[in-house]
Amino acid sequence: MSITETAPSGVETSTPVIGHWIDGALAPSTSGRTAPVFNPATGAVQAEVALADDAEIAAAIASAVRGFEAWSDYSIAKRQAVIFAFRELLNQRRGELAALITAEHGKVHSDALGEIARGMEVVELACGFPHLIKGAYSENVSTGIDVYSVKQPLGVVGIISPFNFPAMVPMWFFPIAIAAGNAVVLKPSEKDPSAALWIAKLWKEAGLPDGVFNVLQGDKQAVDGLLTSPDVQSISFVGSTPIAQYIYETASKHGKRVQALGGAKNHMLVLPDADLELAADMAVNAGYGAAGERCMAISVVLAVEPVADALIEKVKERIAKLHIGNGASTPEPDMGPLITGVHRDKVSSYVDIAEADGATVVVDGRGFTVDGAEDGFFFGPTLLDNVPTTSRAYTEEIFGPVLSVVRVETFQEGVDLINSGQFGNGTAIFTNDGGAARRFQNEIQVGMIGINVPIPVPVAYHSFGGWKQSLFGDAKAYGVHGFDFFTREKAITSRWLDPATHGGINLGFPHH
Ligand code: NAD
Repeated sequence: MSITETAPSGVETSTPVIGHWIDGALAPSTSGRTAPVFNPATGAVQAEVALADDAEIAAAIASAVRGFEAWSDYSIAKRQAVIFAFRELLNQRRGELAALITAEHGKVHSDALGEIARGMEVVELACGFPHLIKGAYSENVSTGIDVYSVKQPLGVVGIISPFNFPAMVPMWFFPIAIAAGNAVVLKPSEKDPSAALWIAKLWKEAGLPDGVFNVLQGDKQAVDGLLTSPDVQSISFVGSTPIAQYIYETASKHGKRVQALGGAKNHMLVLPDADLELAADMAVNAGYGAAGERCMAISVVLAVEPVADALIEKVKERIAKLHIGNGASTPEPDMGPLITGVHRDKVSSYVDIAEADGATVVVDGRGFTVDGAEDGFFFGPTLLDNVPTTSRAYTEEIFGPVLSVVRVETFQEGVDLINSGQFGNGTAIFTNDGGAARRFQNEIQVGMIGINVPIPVPVAYHSFGGWKQSLFGDAKAYGVHGFDFFTREKAITSRWLDPATHGGINLGFPHH
């Protein structure tokens, strides 16, 4: 399945331009504004992506308004058939989608397949949606009076997603939104925009009516268009914390329901009784997988002494065996490049900051290149020791393959450090002590916790979301929270009059 390639008016380029998906078809951009889409493994610009103007934003929203009307006529059974068909097509063709993700994001092919598998879990959950949008019925709450509730769709819903999971993060939301009867405008990251278009085409093949799933390519202008449009009822956002906060405040001000998931700084607390071989394996997998560009990546290892020296040695040994290269090559490397050269330089600057603040650079990924791909945005796995907790390299999200070790003397010191941070997305404890693990899960101020599990992303029938600056709003992604977010409940109090029981005039407040 090929992805759009048309030049928008006003752009002098032979580079393919990735456009929108509106009214069930590719819609070339007319704004004349574009941004480059890189192949991070080579550093080359492989396409331009359209950046929507106000007319294109209005066209995408109008398409969704029409789509919602059409979708509203579909019975539950017909909606379910479309979602099942989408799941089957996605399962058959996921290799194509994974290749697109690797080409624009840079993550290795098996990791791209992994993100699709985790997204597909939500599609599978959505296949069973009738059970999750059922209302409730109470008979005879007062003599002859019944109360019942129904869950109805919101209408047009906006989804704004980050670059790091171009398929999975949108799939946290749109399967549930669509199953619940809404129409979607998805604004993907401009850094890897093709996965969204591929998914749009798949929905069409699955039988979704035109206009129910739209893709609006763009930057802040497209985002602001969604946040302020009176036709958009809700916003689901995932990205960095400052933007999540902006989205939450702006969309709320415009009367929308909002869930805005932000950044993270996930700690792994290793107790002295832990299996250090397991802890070292997990630190490397969770620290360097997807080059650290995961919101649930482990970026800090809190080593409760005396384990730090031994643990660092084991992590170092494992880093030495990692292969870094183009994620599309065979045999597959362990880790690909970062998303852009700008981001690579930012990650590198955090290592400079840590070093200047007194950290020891145990393994240095700065200046790392891959033979034959010297212009690729690669950064080597980096291990820092004794990172001061006052350093910006500790307090801020780096979002790269940089693992910081902080040595602590006690379990409590580790817990207090985790709880003092601005983020609360994920965390993990490694121990063989059930009592310590239980105390950890109880006292820690974080939304998702792993016990001897480093990346505790909940399965689709639970819900995903952090605490503090990692989630603005009170609705997590997917699971029951997802169905609650994408529906609104109506409660009906009903009496079918029997003339004999008519109560007559009574100005008092109704009670039983
Ligand atoms: P980002 O905040 O830069 O961008 C996210 C989205 O917001 C994109 O679609 C982008 O176009 C848009 N955007 C960017 N700047 C904007 C602005 N000024 N106004 C309006 N919209 C704007 O994030 P990113 O770099 O694409 O993704 C990485 C970040 O996402 C990391 O901080 C990571 O932790 C976070 N993330 C969080 C989760 C989670 O579940 N909490 C999951 C994945 C990623």
